[in-house]
Amino acid sequence: MTHHDPLWDSDGGPLDPFLDDPSDPSDLLDDLDPVEPLTDTDRREIAEDLAELEEFEIALTPHGILGIVVDCGDCGEQHFFSWALMSANLRSLLGNGRTGIHEPAAEPRPESYVTWDYARGFTDALASHHR
Ligand SMILES: [Zn+2]
Repeated sequence: MTHHDPLWDSDGGPLDPFLDDPSDPSDLLDDLDPVEPLTDTDRREIAEDLAELEEFEIALTPHGILGIVVDCGDCGEQHFFSWALMSANLRSLLGNGRTGIHEPAAEPRPESYVTWDYARGFTDALASHHR
């Protein structure tokens, strides 16, 4: 690793061709394994999502909302998750880094599901209303 070090390569020899190339093909290797070990940050964020999800369920169920709808980046379809199913997904993500995202609720009623952002806005509005 010494003869290619650019700082000391004074004889004009070829530098590492990928040295400053953002498309270094070795980066692609990072995408091959779909399940990365969760970092502490990942775990904290998932735990926060779980806590938020419980708030959503408490706030929205009385209004006829049964769960969360997710625009799936993988298959381009909308997936519908009951509160329990979404919670199970997050818990399994914490457990082994995988989710059953492509196995959503059977025969969902789309009008009973809202996006995460909508649920957050709704819950925030309710909370400030009762303040
Ligand atoms: Zn999907």
